[in-house]
Amino acid sequence: MADKKDCIFCKIARGEKKSERIDESDNFIAFRDANPKVEGHTLIVPKKHFVTLLDIPNKLGNEMLEFTKKVAGKLMDEKYGDGFNIIMNNLDVAGQIVMHAHLHILPRKDGDSVIQGGRLRID
Ligand code: AMP
Ligand code: ZN
Repeated sequence: MADKKDCIFCKIARGEKKSERIDESDNFIAFRDANPKVEGHTLIVPKKHFVTLLDIPNKLGNEMLEFTKKVAGKLMDEKYGDGFNIIMNNLDVAGQIVMHAHLHILPRKDGDSVIQGGRLRID
């Protein structure tokens, strides 16, 4: 597991690695997923390194939700989708690849590729 020094999202937060940043607050950044599942696929990432949701202090968790609402609202205003999913993978067995806590915002449109065979694809 990458420590904070090598963690890719810490590097993005520190500005050492490029990302398509779309918004920022004191404690969070929002940038486009490098392998978007849908147009506008965006990640919400705390600037400080935490591994899962359980590691994030409640006050910061509230802030994360506020920031997520702001970014999701912006994506809806910009017509990336007519609705959206918020997804969070926590630890390996749940599909977490980057071990720095983050939320996915997936803007959704009718007939998009996220639903296949009636099931939500989150791989
Ligand atoms: P997961 O840990 O499975 O919730 O997802 C990690 C997500 O981070 C994947 O959707 C990747 O496409 C995305 N990702 C990995 N590296 C980068 C990067 N350098 N910039 C933007 N997105 C990334
Ligand atoms: Zn990190």
